[in-house]
Amino acid sequence: MQIACYRGLLPVVAILLGFQAQLAGEAPATIDALLETGLPSRRIDLVFLAEGYTQSELPTFRLHAAYVKDVLFSSEPFREYQNYFNAFAVSVSSSESGSDHPSLGMFRDTYFNSSYESYGLDHALTVPPNDRDPNIEHGYGKAYHLLEQLLPDWDVLVFLVNDPAFGGWGDARGVVCSADYFMGEVIAHELGHTLAGLGDEYSDAFPNDPEPVREEPNTTRETRREFIKWKAWIEDSTRIPTPSSALYENLVGLFQGARYQQQGWYRPKLRCRMNNWINLFCEVCTEALVKSICLRTGTVDSFSPQVARLHLTSAPVQLSVSPMSPAAHSLQTSWYIDGHRVAGPEDSRLALEISRASLGPGTHNVKVEVFDPTTMVRSDPEDLLKNEVIWEIQVSDRRTRRNPNRVFR
Ligand SMILES: [Zn+2]
Repeated sequence: MQIACYRGLLPVVAILLGFQAQLAGEAPATIDALLETGLPSRRIDLVFLAEGYTQSELPTFRLHAAYVKDVLFSSEPFREYQNYFNAFAVSVSSSESGSDHPSLGMFRDTYFNSSYESYGLDHALTVPPNDRDPNIEHGYGKAYHLLEQLLPDWDVLVFLVNDPAFGGWGDARGVVCSADYFMGEVIAHELGHTLAGLGDEYSDAFPNDPEPVREEPNTTRETRREFIKWKAWIEDSTRIPTPSSALYENLVGLFQGARYQQQGWYRPKLRCRMNNWINLFCEVCTEALVKSICLRTGTVDSFSPQVARLHLTSAPVQLSVSPMSPAAHSLQTSWYIDGHRVAGPEDSRLALEISRASLGPGTHNVKVEVFDPTTMVRSDPEDLLKNEVIWEIQVSDRRTRRNPNRVFR
């Protein structure tokens, strides 16, 4: 990916902490920061929303949101990439506590109108639009309107539902999860769907699967070793398909049973968070999540000067880049002038001084590449782990500037 300087000016975005937003006829909403690592425009902004919490229960919601944030960032890949995220809690009260349980005749008057038993599954907990209420303005739409006022740069919505019954849902629109004992782990699983488009690695039947039948980064019907999309993680000695035995329990292979099918669909590992939330993410799901994180933030946090073209006069100019900051490894930088690698300290130079003498008259391109060498990714054909910043530098000929007519003689 390339970052073009002329698109690089960072907007000044206010985080309206303590600010109150309110939709017509509805309860007011406030926002609190749980994790701030950078400008919302340069981070993945997770927003936890209170659903089914009455006014007196909102302090409990904020404790739940902080707990989920802590669990989420305690394991990989979120621990390593925590500095790529901000997290916020939006407190808005519901008239009643809990959520709908239609088969029990329990219906609660809640802000985002959440419901269990969506799409024919007892534990599918969703907010509209869903099969029970197709009106987006009763669910996600209300969140969108609130965040237009509170945090216009939001990225991922997570509805925390104040109901002890286990339930959750995750798709491209966002995550819904009940406030039960495993809510942190379940939300990590659901973010696998929302952030990276991962599929479920379990084989329990899904009666009315609303998704079209398609492969995800961690599910496949392919059984030929050379065509398996996660072949970079499979050792030559691993049998394909891979038996579900103790011999292979810690290895990536091709295990039958995935995407709600017991046969014909395969997953990368015997145990993974996309199979059961009590596990950690497998190598293949971790790789997909890292790439999805880098796709959203890029590898460059900021750069200077933030212009596409520079006219170099007598004074030298300092070009600089600030890479994103994973927790336990550093990103690599490589500088180029007119396509030639700049000699000097390898992989760590954050600034380059250029002058008329070093470039000479003419138009020059100076480029810095910022690459993430993480061992969590083995296959990146789209180059999602590398960004570049390019400056066009113009150096005029001193003789021409002193006497422009001279070039025509
Ligand atoms: Zn997995």
